[in-house]
Amino acid sequence: MKTFAVFAGVPSVPQALEVINTGESSGESFFLHQNSRTCTDRRSFFSCAPVRYKKKQRHDPNDIAKGAESVPIPFVRAPGGDESLPEDFTYTAVAVAYEKAKIEIRLCKIEQDNCCTACFGNCLKKKWPCHCARETGGEFAYNEDGCVKKELLRQAVRETQGDEACRRVTCEKECPMEVARGSTEKCRGHIVRRFIKECWVKCTCHKKLCGNRIVQQGVRYKLEVFWTPTGKGWGVRTTEDLPMGAFVCEYIGEILTNTELDERNEERFLKQSRHFYPIYLDSDVCTERILEDDHLLCLDCTHYGNVARFINHRCGDANLIDIPVEIECPDRHFYHIALFTKHAVSAMEELTWDYQLDFADENHPIKAFRCKCGSRECKDTRE
Ligand SMILES: [Zn+2]
Ligand SMILES: [Zn+2]
Ligand SMILES: [Zn+2]
Ligand SMILES: [Zn+2]
Ligand SMILES: [Zn+2]
Repeated sequence: MKTFAVFAGVPSVPQALEVINTGESSGESFFLHQNSRTCTDRRSFFSCAPVRYKKKQRHDPNDIAKGAESVPIPFVRAPGGDESLPEDFTYTAVAVAYEKAKIEIRLCKIEQDNCCTACFGNCLKKKWPCHCARETGGEFAYNEDGCVKKELLRQAVRETQGDEACRRVTCEKECPMEVARGSTEKCRGHIVRRFIKECWVKCTCHKKLCGNRIVQQGVRYKLEVFWTPTGKGWGVRTTEDLPMGAFVCEYIGEILTNTELDERNEERFLKQSRHFYPIYLDSDVCTERILEDDHLLCLDCTHYGNVARFINHRCGDANLIDIPVEIECPDRHFYHIALFTKHAVSAMEELTWDYQLDFADENHPIKAFRCKCGSRECKDTRE
């Protein structure tokens, strides 16, 4: 137990004080280190000897999720390091709409052939797959160990790599993705992603024991947020061996409309504030072909998100792959982006995901980002 001189009843903490994170399990940290400006400006209030305040720390080193996941997710600094997680970040294990995004979760929209009404226990054990396997060609996406089957994984890899053989659709009118990029070009075509469809509230199977309910159960493997030694800031690693096709986590953030994201980006650009690259939920483009204004949704994990926010990008040979998952909404307007291992991953290996960044796209806010992924397949070849 460290002892600090603690000032009680200090009305506000001066901005000029640096936050030093002690990493104590109590979840408290202390403000120390007066800088010279504070010494001058606030001489009447503080003495120039190191002054320490007690302040609640936002992030718990033992569990950044603060109980939101079924397993704790600790964060570990570099040896002797004092890095802290972003102060303006709040962990959420569920995606929540910011303001205008319309997410229609309605029981009446789930039709009879989009749920299973005669199942009991585990749908995977049925002799004949139920309706909930329809999306994946009458065969469930998961095996008995809760991992995505090899063929579906391969298909997802082909789709994310833009394989020529994958089915594409082209927008008939204005392409919302081009608009989002700030470009006036014609639609480049969208690869139709293969979805996983999980059992949900209308299904009569067991809520925990049905093997077709994986993503909705949340994180189950032991993960850790750590300070990377290679200059990438925070990263995520597994502390146990993961098999191929294992569900690691969902990519969660605030759900925004396209317009809301534009407004935010403008503000951030003016303030030069740090933010994350949003992930578009663009599968709707493939089903609707003509989208209403503001119908394109995206996930922004800058301020609200889950452990996926700390997963670093890696070009080409990342060990995670995203697969879209339908749980609540059969209409593809809102769905889940789930991250699975592409192959077996050993304990303490960093988990990485290829965000499919287009480094050559001059209109994209990505311009400011230098890729430090270290992959031999790195696509950031800019001088
Ligand atoms: Zn079923
Ligand atoms: Zn089921
Ligand atoms: Zn398009
Ligand atoms: Zn079902
Ligand atoms: Zn790279």
